[in-house]
Amino acid sequence: MYDYDVVIIGGGVSGCAVARELSRCKVNVCVFEKEEDVCCGTSKANSGIVHAGYDAPEGSVKARMNLRGNELMETLAEELDIPFERNGSLVLCLRREDMPGLRKLYDRGIANGVKELRILDREEVLEMEPNVTDEVFAALYAPSAGIVCPFELNIALAENAYVNGVEFRFRTEVTEIKKLEEGFALTTDAGEFKARYVVNAAGVYADRFHNMVSKDKIHITARRGDYCLLDKSAGKHVRSTIFTLPGEYGKGVLVAPTAHGNLILGPTAIDIEDKEGTNTTREGLDQVLGKVGLSVKNLPVRQVITSFAGLRAHESQDEFIIEEAEDARGFIDCAGIESPGLTSCPAIGEYIAGMLRDRMELEEKEDFIAVRKGILRPQSLDREERAALIRQNPAYGNIICRCEMITEGEIMDAINRPLGARSLDGVKRRTRAGMGRCQSGFCSPRTMEILARERHMDIREVTKSGGNSRIVTGTNKDVL
Ligand SMILES: Cc1cc2nc3c(=O)[nH]c(=O)nc-3n(C[C@H](O)[C@H](O)[C@H](O)COP(=O)(O)OP(=O)(O)OC[C@H]3O[C@@H](n4cnc5c(N)ncnc54)[C@H](O)[C@@H]3O)c2cc1C
Repeated sequence: MYDYDVVIIGGGVSGCAVARELSRCKVNVCVFEKEEDVCCGTSKANSGIVHAGYDAPEGSVKARMNLRGNELMETLAEELDIPFERNGSLVLCLRREDMPGLRKLYDRGIANGVKELRILDREEVLEMEPNVTDEVFAALYAPSAGIVCPFELNIALAENAYVNGVEFRFRTEVTEIKKLEEGFALTTDAGEFKARYVVNAAGVYADRFHNMVSKDKIHITARRGDYCLLDKSAGKHVRSTIFTLPGEYGKGVLVAPTAHGNLILGPTAIDIEDKEGTNTTREGLDQVLGKVGLSVKNLPVRQVITSFAGLRAHESQDEFIIEEAEDARGFIDCAGIESPGLTSCPAIGEYIAGMLRDRMELEEKEDFIAVRKGILRPQSLDREERAALIRQNPAYGNIICRCEMITEGEIMDAINRPLGARSLDGVKRRTRAGMGRCQSGFCSPRTMEILARERHMDIREVTKSGGNSRIVTGTNKDVL
């Protein structure tokens, strides 16, 4: 007897996109996630770019997934009520002698099927983006590129999958997988489980699980990318996502607005041994700040409000591995999902769910709910509507995060909705409380109180991000 038809290892965008697509069918699915929430791996620390699709080689899985993911993102964002904008991207060419490189990108994009690609001359670029460097010679313009909020994408996929019947087991770390005559036995720190099919969407750890069941070994290197995030006052410095063609100073870094109106600078690309090594380093941040000026002028770099790093799951063949392991039937890899993994996730979900649907001859549900409503934002309402909302529920009039203007009502919703937040970071990623200029300096004590109240726990049990990350310690209740 199986506990589940399908176990998905990993609650990042890949795992949750597969879960949501599978939830259209009558099938018993569970996501095993070692952390206390979804969106705790690479999906929480990236550029948030929905790539157009001219980077990956023609015919590669990366190129196919990128194009299809980009195409699906618009409908998905509408259905899941998450911020997405086609702001376009520019790849800058700074010297005439580098033009063959730019044309190569253009040709690859056309071969991959990217629509409306154009090479712009210097005047056209500067007219479109006046803050681009005066050194610009030409640029590749891709209007289909966009920006999305990676947290909201990941969380919304999970919420919608959950509402449609997918189970989520948090704080459940898979430690071993064994192939059985039929199906798989999974050992976790929360018990033993049997599944007919396993989807391996474990990010930088996907090689570990693949190598447990297959003789054909793969290797994933954690490739760190450091970032600086600028305050919203700098958010309109450029409108499009600005890349540079690799040139005499090596591979450039990007400058882009985020879906919430900040400006993001980065990332670096530094191979490391530690699959948990998401700390930034001084050298990494110096590299970012040293390079951004080559593409964009007058950047207000004093407006940096935080820095962070994410780990690309770089597979040695430089390709997405999205297939059933040949010598372990029923084990579906979703490995090596580095960039453009965020862009590709709708396509990855569609493809893997399609594969499993055929294999299991699954029936569609009649009652699948495709639409998910995000957290109600008083800021998005006009004066009268807001006043009416506050009269109805005064918690929407109580501002908790002053930088982002997030109310108690929004935080309560984030905690109490399906797969709601259990930690400060969970609240932050769902509401943006703590993501502003003061980086939660003012709001975290108040958010902790709301978490303790709504989750019926002692404030000393409130954590930053689950596990042992408690914020208040001590035994004297009177001082709390
Ligand atoms: C610096 C950087 C910039 C990027 N920029 C972009 C971009 O602009 N656009 C784009 O399209 N893509 C971008 N990407 C790529 C994109 O972020 C990833 O491809 C995507 O987030 C990968 O999602 P995932 O679900 O495969 O992995 P993850 O988000 O890492 O999820 C894997 C999950 O598995 C869980 N897990 C691991 N081991 C276990 C275990 N033993 N048991 C249970 N659970 C486990 C982890 O906790 C994690 O939650 C970028 C990546 C980086 C690092």
